[in-house]
Amino acid sequence: MGVTGAAKQADPEAVVTLYTDYEDAAYSPCGIPYVHGGEIPNFERLFLQGKEFYEQSGIDIHYKTTVESIDLAHHEIHVAGEGAIGWDRLVIATGFNYADPGIPGTDLDGLYYPKNIRRAMEWDKVLDTVKRAVIFECGPLGVEMTTALAQRGIETHVVDSRPWALADVADPDIMQPVQDAWAEMGVKFHFNTRATAFLGKGKVRAVKTPDGEIPADIVVVCTHKEPEVSLARGAGIRIGSTGGIIVDDRMATSTAGVFAAGDCVEIPHGVTRMPIQGLSGSHAYAQGRVAGANAAGGDRFYQPVAVPWGLAAGPWMVGGVSLGETLAKALGLPFILGAADGISRARYYPDMRKVRVKLLAEPKGQRLIGAQMVGGEGIKERADFLAVAVKTGVTLSDLAWMENVYSPPIGALNEPIALAAQNALNRLKT
Ligand SMILES: Cc1cc2nc3c(=O)[nH]c(=O)nc-3n(C[C@H](O)[C@H](O)[C@H](O)COP(=O)(O)OP(=O)(O)OC[C@H]3O[C@@H](n4cnc5c(N)ncnc54)[C@H](O)[C@@H]3O)c2cc1C
Repeated sequence: MGVTGAAKQADPEAVVTLYTDYEDAAYSPCGIPYVHGGEIPNFERLFLQGKEFYEQSGIDIHYKTTVESIDLAHHEIHVAGEGAIGWDRLVIATGFNYADPGIPGTDLDGLYYPKNIRRAMEWDKVLDTVKRAVIFECGPLGVEMTTALAQRGIETHVVDSRPWALADVADPDIMQPVQDAWAEMGVKFHFNTRATAFLGKGKVRAVKTPDGEIPADIVVVCTHKEPEVSLARGAGIRIGSTGGIIVDDRMATSTAGVFAAGDCVEIPHGVTRMPIQGLSGSHAYAQGRVAGANAAGGDRFYQPVAVPWGLAAGPWMVGGVSLGETLAKALGLPFILGAADGISRARYYPDMRKVRVKLLAEPKGQRLIGAQMVGGEGIKERADFLAVAVKTGVTLSDLAWMENVYSPPIGALNEPIALAAQNALNRLKT
């Protein structure tokens, strides 16, 4: 609804047609792990809008309909079962595919790629019968699915060639409390372990690793997201170095009249200026609003991203913005670091939780370039705030002496962000 709704807002007279090869359009895939884990009681809650809503909004929606190709010369798309359909402006929002695990056995039954809600509903019934599962790679979805399966009482093994969970994004000290909590829930870790095959006859029975076989009734494949750009590539629209469609700040592609948004595009990172892809649903939605509005004659802009992120991980919440210590080092970016272990509420107030905050800043000028956090509450709000801070050039001194809310049930006297900034400034003095 992001793209089409914005197009209709920009020009209520515009004829807007939406094609999807899925059975549904407006639902939240983001809730799928939480239905599997039992926090959300059923999948029906994840459906946001049905066909009627689109009809009432004046949008012509075609479910279960595959767009086979884009003909730029004739301003047409070719649609299975419908033939050539003309357009004045086109928005491509084809999403992502999970990266191929790249090992033998991906043709076996029992490999679950969580994405489409209808398939998730079918897999949920399978999960009732599962005793042992492997999570193949532990990025953001892997973190959510590990918690979900462990909560469900399934013996859960995490297999990842990287050294800790969420290693592309989060620092090891941020993830350690999460992994400790998972271990208490019975999760088994196989980090620094490159799986070599999925084994079985017809159906998966184990994952092969150099340390032996891990028996599994199912494997949940949580590899990184790759942009789905086959239509764009086939039409000759420019694709960037990350594999995503290149767009400008109006979400316009290299071809006049064609826009793109969401997981299929690449966007400049606000700090490194490097193109990145595979962002979140909130980014996809915001980009879709810009692309849809501009396709209908509007004039909206999308800025380089600071990438606030956060997620529940077992009993913890982890999050951050832009760069962590590990990523900054890997990129060879100089930084100064401050860290503090603060608290989420007044220390005497029930359910107070530890909040660890790490801040990274440029050595010269001390502008904030990244943050990492783990705690029990308030992580999302801090990540959103720190993203604005990164975008607007806030410095360590600004944060060290920031004003903050103090109210025993919702915030401690000392804000953990301020403590981390003070720590960074103190380190500079020594
Ligand atoms: C399990 C799961 C959990 C997630 N959790 C979070 C979260 O907590 N927070 C968050 O911010 N993000 C989350 N995400 C990511 C988020 O959902 C995606 O970033 C977002 O959906 C991307 O939107 P999109 O419109 O780019 O692509 P999609 O939502 O994937 O939509 C792409 C659409 O293109 C259609 N399509 C592709 N090719 C064709 C074709 N040839 N013909 C017709 N239709 C076609 C597909 O049918 C699909 O409907 C999660 C994703 C998943 C799968």
